[in-house]
Amino acid sequence: MTDTPGVPGGGRRSSDALPPAHSWFAIEWHANGIMRIWEPHVSRLLRANIFLVKGRDRDLVVDAGMGIVSLRDFLRPFTDKPITHLVTHSHVDHVGSSHEFGDDLLMHTAEAAMLRNPPDDWRLSFEEYPEDKRRRLQAAGFDTTGLLIAALPHEGFDYRNWRVPGVAPTRLVDEGDVVDLGDRRFEVMHTPGHSPGSISLWEPASGTLIGGDAIYDGLLIDTLPDSDRSAYCVTMERLRSVPATVVHGGHRESFGASKLKKLCDDYLSTF
Ligand SMILES: [Zn+2]
Ligand SMILES: [Zn+2]
Repeated sequence: MTDTPGVPGGGRRSSDALPPAHSWFAIEWHANGIMRIWEPHVSRLLRANIFLVKGRDRDLVVDAGMGIVSLRDFLRPFTDKPITHLVTHSHVDHVGSSHEFGDDLLMHTAEAAMLRNPPDDWRLSFEEYPEDKRRRLQAAGFDTTGLLIAALPHEGFDYRNWRVPGVAPTRLVDEGDVVDLGDRRFEVMHTPGHSPGSISLWEPASGTLIGGDAIYDGLLIDTLPDSDRSAYCVTMERLRSVPATVVHGGHRESFGASKLKKLCDDYLSTF
């Protein structure tokens, strides 16, 4: 989860009033065969990034959005190889379509249970959120009224029926493991703090860091029930020293080396 206090939740009470979306996903190609994908009609709070990384033998899909629309179907024109799916952590905005990639699904052991059995309180209407969860978001400055989508993925879509199906990982990964796409190798970094099983991917050959919710250019969240601020500090010290030239975060736009250091320093300076 993220981010940006004050962004309206939509203020709508019914999906009847929502316009249909022309296109559910937005994309942006980066260097080194990496495509950033996001869901512009999802509220800023849960509008997370998905990354497609092109490899010689396999393609890699990092995170899976909300699962409101099939990610696998959307990606079909962009990939003709077997897909490895890596989940940076098991929050709702990153695992919605993970069940579509269950044949080769990698994640950290600390959050595998949540991926198998997603919480029942993940809903598309703030009115259906449990009171304590809603209060916590309000305290952080978020508008928790209305719906979490501003358009319908297709005519007749009923937000009340949306649920995230559980799925089991096929491989549990941890610090130092490698995700091998044939011609490119990503090293797994265990980067807890935002959540206990948060992982990042580091490709030394291209200077690419894919950070999940450990790092992005926005307000970082360390106040969730399973957040750990001292672990987050260790993570930030580590990320600060990664010689990355490009960072693809869990939310918002990608950025470069100086922003990476600034975001880490800004976080560490609050202690
Ligand atoms: Zn997130
Ligand atoms: Zn998160």
